[in-house]
Amino acid sequence: MILIANSEAWPGFQTTVDRLRAGERGPDPLVAGISCVEREVTVRSVGYGGWPNMLGEMEFDAGVMDGTTRQVGAVGALRDVVPASAVALQVMRRLPHVLLTGDGARRFALECGFAAEPTLLEDSRRVWWERLEKELPPADLAAFPDIPLAPLSRAITDPERVRDTTVFLGQDSGGGLHAATSTSGWAWKYPGRLGDSPIAGAGFYADSRFGAAACTHTGEMTVRCGTARSIVLALQLGRTLREAVDLAVADLATLDLGFLAGVVIHALDAQGNHEVVSFRCGPAIRYWYWDPSLTAPEERVARTV
Ligand code: ASP
Repeated sequence: MILIANSEAWPGFQTTVDRLRAGERGPDPLVAGISCVEREVTVRSVGYGGWPNMLGEMEFDAGVMDGTTRQVGAVGALRDVVPASAVALQVMRRLPHVLLTGDGARRFALECGFAAEPTLLEDSRRVWWERLEKELPPADLAAFPDIPLAPLSRAITDPERVRDTTVFLGQDSGGGLHAATSTSGWAWKYPGRLGDSPIAGAGFYADSRFGAAACTHTGEMTVRCGTARSIVLALQLGRTLREAVDLAVADLATLDLGFLAGVVIHALDAQGNHEVVSFRCGPAIRYWYWDPSLTAPEERVARTV
């Protein structure tokens, strides 16, 4: 058994550890943990604590993959419902589909018994509006939101670096490798924008035979490179975990157009090795690690490339 997650996973990491220790298999223990993170208002990148899109609306993205069956469930631009990862798990369990977005995702969540509720914190609403006040000329501000939004997307993309995704990757007691992700995406994103977190193959992927990977930060880049899938495929082709991750990093480094910034890659292989690599992310990136040889989870520092 093994579990890794990004640094903001602290509200739910122990929940997942406890469920793995109890012998629970499949992606459910990961979703139990990530749901705690989504409910924690002090985690400012996911669930209630996340940041809204340009219109001041919360839109959640989440993905789940069972690496043994390679079933996937995901939701994108889900409104009014927390935890999005639990809705993603129900997409995997109840539908012949892998990804629902927007109104369809919300409708499905309510059908499953999730409650619709306000998800925009007053503090997030205030910060969102203050940013618009700073960016928009008075005439546009007065007309808002009936103005073209596209010009704003360059100006306010990630204005305060208030982005992140919660990712959990685990190997259960049966050797099954699984992945779960959840995020509110970038602050002030264009409405309807999906990052990598609900996109299997980009923001997450798991195959119990070989490995699992999940990414945080600039989702546009990992969608373009198919980063998570590329790592698991490299493992399948016989590369070591470090080689597989370094190949993915080298591929990201060849991008030279579009919005380019940092990416953090989390990865496991079927032999119980792990890698967390921070690519052009600046200050040290931390992550959580646990395996049964440890009495308690450890917070460790990612390799920087
Ligand atoms: N990867 C997420 C996205 O692009 C955000 C993040 O992890 O910072 O939506």
